[in-house]
Amino acid sequence: MMRTQVAIVGAGPAGLTLAQLLAVQGIDSVVIEARSRAYVEKRIRAGILEHNTRDVLIESGAGARLQREGLVHHGIELRFDNQAHRVAMSDYTGGRTVTVYGQTEVVKDLVNIRVAAGLPLYFDAKAVSITGADTDSPVVTFEHDGTITELHADFVIGADGFHGIGRQSIPADQISTIEKIYPFAWLGILADVPPSCDELIYANHPNGFAMHSMRSPSVSRLYLQVDPSDDVKNWSDARIWSELALRMHTPGWDLKTGPITDKSITPMRSFVASTLRYGRLFLAGDAAHIVPPTGAKGLNLAVADVTLLSDALTGFYRTGSEKGLEEYSETALRRVWRASHFSYWMTTLLHVDPNANEFDRALQRSNLAYVASSDAAKTSLSENYVGLAVIPKGKV
Ligand SMILES: Cc1cc2nc3c(=O)[nH]c(=O)nc-3n(C[C@H](O)[C@H](O)[C@H](O)COP(=O)(O)OP(=O)(O)OC[C@H]3O[C@@H](n4cnc5c(N)ncnc54)[C@H](O)[C@@H]3O)c2cc1C
Repeated sequence: MMRTQVAIVGAGPAGLTLAQLLAVQGIDSVVIEARSRAYVEKRIRAGILEHNTRDVLIESGAGARLQREGLVHHGIELRFDNQAHRVAMSDYTGGRTVTVYGQTEVVKDLVNIRVAAGLPLYFDAKAVSITGADTDSPVVTFEHDGTITELHADFVIGADGFHGIGRQSIPADQISTIEKIYPFAWLGILADVPPSCDELIYANHPNGFAMHSMRSPSVSRLYLQVDPSDDVKNWSDARIWSELALRMHTPGWDLKTGPITDKSITPMRSFVASTLRYGRLFLAGDAAHIVPPTGAKGLNLAVADVTLLSDALTGFYRTGSEKGLEEYSETALRRVWRASHFSYWMTTLLHVDPNANEFDRALQRSNLAYVASSDAAKTSLSENYVGLAVIPKGKV
């Protein structure tokens, strides 16, 4: 039997950032992670940090390498009809930026800090049940090294991703979910080649969406829209490079190619749970909501959730006030729905929908032209992309 103040299930960006924020406040937590440290640190996923996310990581003491190695971006490029249109995001948002820094690096930094501080973080430790969430002393039962351990806590945080047990531990009559499945997926690659652009490229082409991102001055991350039933085996390296070059083509621009080190297909969905709280069990990050990756919001929403949770738990331990805890779900969901709309909007603006009719396609073209030419449209895109602050009640 173990005891802590806050039991955190999941060592992804949500769980690890929360553990760090709580440690800074002197609040004890134990983090339980089903996978190995090596697996969690190598999982290639997101890589764009909103302005706020960068600030939170730096203020929590986990931003030293991020400040040295992160690539600060002031704009993005939209491409369609073989023409490039820059959106100067900083100009439209009072100088705000995004930072290119891989999720793998965020996770490594947070794990290193926790391990160096000797704070409890168990890898290869799978939570098998969460009980007593409707009491003052919930319990997480987990398996580690062939032993079953009961972790007693004041609060449990389900930061265990879409397939975790956090959300499933809320009684079915206390939670509902809203979901949209998109008729396309992303084939994502990581390649040992310097980026062919200074800023991210988002391209719409009759063959489908394409995107050029990067992880460092020597590593590029690129994506192609593919059918959800497609298989990476159908995509040789040569075919991937040729399709990327075709979809992103503009006169005078060349795509540099190099060895592909990672290839995967990710389906796209939007998903939002109706509540992020049941008694003393709180959900954060992908456990509570999923967005399609086009708006680069998944990791950023996870960090935004746990920033609120950290403030709420700090308020509780300092003053006994439950106000922050009571308001957490509603406050977080306002931001989640805004990010869900933005992610949906970017996705439908840029992808080729196999079910679209002539009318839908004409609207999409009109919208692309509007975004490329209107300061109002660019302001809206930019403020959502660099990230909105906490949205006050009554504002959405
Ligand atoms: C396959 C994939 C690809 C993605 N690609 C991109 C991208 O290209 N761009 C982008 O912007 N965003 C991307 N995202 C979104 C982004 O990576 C996520 O939003 C982000 O990881 C959310 O962080 P999290 O901590 O909430 O969840 P996660 O990162 O999923 O972390 C949850 C953790 O909980 C652990 N866990 C689960 N169940 C248990 C259990 N029972 N006991 C203990 N631990 C458990 C898991 O092993 C995992 O480590 C991608 C997401 C996925 C799933």
